[in-house]
Amino acid sequence: MSGPGKEAINGDDVLHKGYEMNGMFVGMMVAEAARRAATQAESAVRKSQSRTTEVRREMAILGERLDKLILINAAMWSLLQERTGLSEEDLTQRAQEIDMRDGVPDGKITRTLKKCANCGRTISRRHNKCLFCGSDRLSETLLEDV
Ligand SMILES: [Zn+2]
Repeated sequence: MSGPGKEAINGDDVLHKGYEMNGMFVGMMVAEAARRAATQAESAVRKSQSRTTEVRREMAILGERLDKLILINAAMWSLLQERTGLSEEDLTQRAQEIDMRDGVPDGKITRTLKKCANCGRTISRRHNKCLFCGSDRLSETLLEDV
């Protein structure tokens, strides 16, 4: 049946070529998706590195402020001891008393509430103004503002 100049169309060959083309197309799509994912990942890494640098800088500043506070505290305590005769025991006892004001002996002042200096009511520390009288005087001492 197949004469010269005519090629037989083999169904299997056509099907095979179709699969090949389809495979190439899928491969290209996968490669494109992979390229896009890589670009997004690179961008996320850059963002994360920049945030890390920022946090390190903030921590360094906090560390310096803390060192300064420790030094000033030591100087104040030294002066107080010298001029008043207060002892290390007095300091320890007072620290424990203040620590226990919130009922939890955890070595720190836990401040969840603050007292309005105008009307005396207590409100959450999240607020900048008294919910009862509207006053913005929400601390009675300098240290409460820290
Ligand atoms: Zn108030």
